[in-house]
Amino acid sequence: MTASVKIEIAEDTILVGIAAAPGIAISRSHLVNRDRMAVIERRISPEEVEPEITAFKDAVEKSKAQLIEVKDQADSKELAEHLYIIDTHLLILEDDLLIGETIRLIRNDLINAEGALNRVLRKLRRVFDKISDEYLRERQSDVDSIGDRLIRNLLGETRESLADVDEQVVVVAHDLSPADTVQIDKSKVVGFVTDIGGRTSHTAILARSLGIPAVVGLETVTSLVPNGIPMIIDGLSGTVILKPSQESFREYLQKKQQYDYQEAELQQFRDLPAETKDGVTLTLRSNIDFVDEIATSKEMGAQGIGLFRTEFLFMTGEGPPSEDEQFEVYRAAIEQMAPYPVTIRTLDVGGDKFVPEFNLSDEVNPAMGLRAVRFSLKEVNLFRAQLRAILRASVYGPVRIMFPMISGVAEVRLCKQFLQKEIEGLNAEGVACGDNVEAGIMIETPAAVLIADLLAKEVDFFSVGTNDLIQYCLAIDRGNEHVAYLYEPMHPAVLQALMRTCQAAKKAGISVGMCGEMAGEDLYSLVLVALGFDELSMNAANISRVKRILRQVEHAEVEEILNKLLLLSTAEEVALTLEEEMSRRYPQVFADRFSVG
Ligand code: PEP
Ligand code: MG
Repeated sequence: MTASVKIEIAEDTILVGIAAAPGIAISRSHLVNRDRMAVIERRISPEEVEPEITAFKDAVEKSKAQLIEVKDQADSKELAEHLYIIDTHLLILEDDLLIGETIRLIRNDLINAEGALNRVLRKLRRVFDKISDEYLRERQSDVDSIGDRLIRNLLGETRESLADVDEQVVVVAHDLSPADTVQIDKSKVVGFVTDIGGRTSHTAILARSLGIPAVVGLETVTSLVPNGIPMIIDGLSGTVILKPSQESFREYLQKKQQYDYQEAELQQFRDLPAETKDGVTLTLRSNIDFVDEIATSKEMGAQGIGLFRTEFLFMTGEGPPSEDEQFEVYRAAIEQMAPYPVTIRTLDVGGDKFVPEFNLSDEVNPAMGLRAVRFSLKEVNLFRAQLRAILRASVYGPVRIMFPMISGVAEVRLCKQFLQKEIEGLNAEGVACGDNVEAGIMIETPAAVLIADLLAKEVDFFSVGTNDLIQYCLAIDRGNEHVAYLYEPMHPAVLQALMRTCQAAKKAGISVGMCGEMAGEDLYSLVLVALGFDELSMNAANISRVKRILRQVEHAEVEEILNKLLLLSTAEEVALTLEEEMSRRYPQVFADRFSVG
């Protein structure tokens, strides 16, 4: 615990961190000491071993009791679905790698309890540091927060609980554990900022659920900010303003009112159907990478999962997940989402989705290399295990299997043959499969668009992956900032590709959806409904925004807009015309976004 020397802060000092939870908070700072305790390691005599182990076990039990109490006292309904995070922490307190290993070090190396625990924590940190995936790397913070709690309990230190905050403040902390966040009283803590953390840390997830603006990863905020200074946090952009001037104050007060008003207005759409005024309905689903995103998806009104990216499952652990491990994950997703379907996309590695152990890094042109379904069809044992896991899980609710990066009919037929073989194999083994597993494909290559009519005869559904389709259609690397200006969803070629895909699907009588990022942008909603999309799958947070737009138009009107756009020759003309059209129709939503009209 170091008493840091604060420097004089100038008016309107701006800090930029990671936008973790949207919204704007204006209040005074409340510094919470969450510094890591200094730990002294010392050698102990053999007689001290058992008392040290007992003290450590007591600290473990005390930590468990504290977490159970936090969980029992968290009565807010926003958090109910997230309390599993506390369960995760309780599980860490059972983990042999942490607890067993510490006890072994005390006993075998004759080190005091906090010293031994500290060594184990350091070792675990080194393991986490090597993980390239952001989400998994951030799970280190869960272990750290348990480590801190154990050390405090070992040393008999208590710490200020956020439940005791008794006036409106913005909390400034080095880090907040999920247990801290669960204790927040929203009427008092109007926002928080931290030195460390990322968008997918559990603390950020909880902040979003609670609807508290938060900016994390500010690195030095605790050493800069003293207690009680006025500050603004903008959780939309990740900006923090210390000692705001009158102008900043006024500007942000207005932004806050606008944001709060729009949010309140959006709430009313959550449970309403995504339906135009003349009764054309769309199904709005969400894209997820992890099962724990399903709770939020449901809250936001998702009618199923339109894209479950399974790559992340393969980025954990020592090797690829086993069939059983995958089955458990898919089953959890399906059970939680039923009666709505979960669309599970088979492994889409390669390209920008790099899984180190598959060693695809030396390809000269990975975007066009051995990726997605091409990889699955080469590594057939992995593919078969994944298909079996999905099929076994399909008895728990509706499932759709989706094959990525399809470029020809032969590929689809091969995938379906594998699927059929696994169904037959499972049947022969007496293992049940769901009786209505749909098989569909992603439309992500120009070839798939050009032969969409042939592909439509082979599958149950299409889902357009515009993130890749735009890259391949316009020949621009989606991750290359030098050509990012050419990444134009409103390029006439993209519009034609989307139209052709929709027409082919309609003709064959199969459903057509979109799960690329474009689907979640409310600006494009009217174009997509006019093109004939049945389903849009997006980040759950965007569902209400898209619904708000759809519910205010008639289908005839959107066709008119589309026809206008189809006559234009450049992406810029199309984009400008659409922006004008949307600003005119929805001034309250778009007028500020575009300075047109
Ligand atoms: C896409 O390409 O639009 C898509 C949804 O897939 P990913 O972003 O995972 O490549
Ligand atoms: Mg893709």
